[in-house]
Amino acid sequence: MSSTDPVPDLEAGIQYWATQPANYDGVLGGFGTGPLPRVDALGSRRFLLELLPELSIVPSPFRSISTPVSETRRVRALDVGAGVGRVTSDVLLPLVSDVVLLEPVEPFINEARSRGKASESGIEFNDSGYRVLWKGIADRSKSVTFFKGTPLDRVGYLPPDGEGDVDSKFDVIWCQWCLGHLKDDDLVDFLQRSKKALRNAKSVVVVKENLCREQANEPMSIFDDQDSTFTRSDLAFKKIFEEAGLKIIREKIQHGLPQGLYPVKMYALGEA
Ligand code: SAH
Repeated sequence: MSSTDPVPDLEAGIQYWATQPANYDGVLGGFGTGPLPRVDALGSRRFLLELLPELSIVPSPFRSISTPVSETRRVRALDVGAGVGRVTSDVLLPLVSDVVLLEPVEPFINEARSRGKASESGIEFNDSGYRVLWKGIADRSKSVTFFKGTPLDRVGYLPPDGEGDVDSKFDVIWCQWCLGHLKDDDLVDFLQRSKKALRNAKSVVVVKENLCREQANEPMSIFDDQDSTFTRSDLAFKKIFEEAGLKIIREKIQHGLPQGLYPVKMYALGEA
C-alpha cells in the first residue's frame, strides 16, 4: 500500500452510520428482515459455546454435571460498535450475565436504550419480528450498560452497594462488522487494549467480519469510500492479530448467509 492510498476516517464512518435507519435493516445494510440475523446470531452463539461450554444453560449429555459458571460468578461481555444492540440481545444476553454496549452513533444507541428500557418494563417492543424482550432484563438477573464514550444508562441487574462492576474485566469482547473503521495501526492498538481488558486465560476477543479475497497469498485491504472502511482479507487480519500479540484460538466461516455477500469469518483471540 502506498502512502497516498485512502485509509478509513473515523468521523466519516460515524457520519455515514448516522444517515442509516436505526434498526436491524440499517445496521445490516438492508439484510435485517431476511434470514441473515437469525443465521448470524445462531452461528455466533454456537461459536461462543464451543469456546466457553460452561456458558451453556441446558444440561449437556457430553459433559459431567457441573454448576454452570454463571451460577458461581457473573460473566461479563463487551459489545463493540454495537449498533442498535443486535449482538447484545441475540448473542450475548442469552449466554452471559452483564453486557457493556459501546456505540458512538446517537440514533443507534438511543434505539438500543429504548429496547433495553422496554425490556425492563416488560413491554414487547415489536416492529419486525426479532427478539423483543431482552433476556434477564425484566427480572433484573442480567444487565446492559450503555456507553457512548461515557456511560449513559443501565438496565436490569445492579450490583449490591459498594460492589460496582464498571471497572471489571471482560470474559468476552465481541467486535462485529465495525473493525473496518479502524486503520491498521489503530486496530492493533485497539486489540492490544482489548487484550488487557480480558479477565483470565480463557477470556476471548471475538472478531466477526467480512473478508475480501487475496491475490498471490498476500494480505489485502479494500477501501470502501461509502462508509470509509477497509474490508480486509484473512491474512490481513492474521498479520494484525499477530502484531497485537493475540493468538487465534478458534476460527470459523459463518455458513448459511445469503449469496452475493462477502464471506464472513469468526476469530476467537486470546493471550498468546
Ligand atoms: N455490531 C453491530 C452493528 C454493525 S454496523 C451488529 O452486528 O449488528 C457498524 C457499527 O459500527 C455501527 O453501529 C457504527 O456506528 C459503529 N461504528 C462506526 N465507527 C465506529 C467507531 N469508530 N467506534 C465504534 N463503533 C463504530
